[in-house]
Amino acid sequence: MGRAFVYVILGGGVAAGYAALEFSNRGVSHGELCIISEESVAPYERPALSKGYLLPEGIELVLGTRVISADVRRRTLLTAAGETISYKILIVATGARALKLEEFGVNGSDAENVCYLRDLTDANRLVDVMRSSSGGNAVVIGGGYIGMECAASLVINKINVTMVFPEAQCMPRLFTPKIASFYEDYYKSKGVEFVKGTALSSFDMDADGKVVAVNLRDGKRLLVDMVVVGIGIRPNTSLFEGQLTLEKGGIKVNEKMQSSNSSVYAVGDVAAFPVKLFGETRRLEHVDSARKCARHAVAAIMEPEKSGEFDYVPFFYSRIFALSWQFYGDNVGEVVHFGDFSGNTFGAYWVNKGHLVGSFLEGGTKEEYAAIAMVTSLKPAIEDLAELESRGLSYAMAV
Ligand code: FAD
Repeated sequence: MGRAFVYVILGGGVAAGYAALEFSNRGVSHGELCIISEESVAPYERPALSKGYLLPEGIELVLGTRVISADVRRRTLLTAAGETISYKILIVATGARALKLEEFGVNGSDAENVCYLRDLTDANRLVDVMRSSSGGNAVVIGGGYIGMECAASLVINKINVTMVFPEAQCMPRLFTPKIASFYEDYYKSKGVEFVKGTALSSFDMDADGKVVAVNLRDGKRLLVDMVVVGIGIRPNTSLFEGQLTLEKGGIKVNEKMQSSNSSVYAVGDVAAFPVKLFGETRRLEHVDSARKCARHAVAAIMEPEKSGEFDYVPFFYSRIFALSWQFYGDNVGEVVHFGDFSGNTFGAYWVNKGHLVGSFLEGGTKEEYAAIAMVTSLKPAIEDLAELESRGLSYAMAV
């Protein structure tokens, strides 16, 4: 049993959706393009993508179907249902999976009140558990994006939250200690408690297999009604290990998003691509990069002679409670903070080897965010850090 397509997108997430949108905009014939996704719904990052664009355009959607092996030499994929799907061009958009507690030696991920958050199934489950825990206690394991955003949602849903993470501050990969302390104070003002510098060691379960308490390595025991785990992700590369070159944990691609096999492209969280601004290959775990590199890959596939260099400025953002921040570029080098950390608008620049390479802003206007994006993309030379500090946001606004 088998089917053949010109283009196959493996994965049904954000990058897959945007790749399909780009194919659709450029015009693909009926039956030329197929999306294979383990999920039972079409790519859903933006409702219009799945409902308005993908379905009417003759794209074959193979949903609820896991690909269990790939043969890049033969250009085939084998599904769990036993079907072989062949392609001329494959776009790998398999994203990443949430790291499980078991990978850190703790059992209990399967308990009914332990939640992860990566896809719609996880989100629906989290909402159900949250509803049944109203007024109760939650422990959030991990102080990254998922931990911070879930903690805010839990508080809004009237659940008492304790955040536990091994680092000294939240969002350690991005925030400076000063920025982190602003958000932690804000969270505390909303009733969130922080237990830092320690990790989960085990769960206590009741007779029904529900977690009733969380034991920490520092000896603390926290009673819980539910647990949310956000301890990082791992790119889904396993189908291609030994077949494609990997780097930074992902599939290594060139500026056209083409892997070491010229018929295979990779986009989104699974791809490690050259970021011109940094002069090196990076793997980014962010939605803006997934959208843009997916569209760039399709442009490079369909009009290779016209597709220019992929000049991408990394962009991350988050919205929590009434707060909202954006970050552009790279957080390396010396940090210059600016603005009012006791007020609503503040930020930071990162200056590396004499050039501004990264900008962070909380509480900015549309114009201010556009200004920090622009200034970061220009990588201006900075001679005087003290002057940059005193000019603050007005420096970006003047560029
Ligand atoms: P995904 O969207 O994960 O899609 C991967 C797809 O591949 C899935 O459909 C999966 O089922 C499928 N798949 C994998 N393996 C197989 C297989 N073998 N067979 C068939 N199908 C397979 N980023 C930001 O910048 N800002 C944010 O505020 C932000 N918030 C987020 C909040 C949450 C809750 C989550 C989970 C992520 C958030 N992100 C955010 C990150 C962003 O969503 C990801 O960067 C983005 O989804 C990456 O897109 P992707 O298509 O590469 O992967």
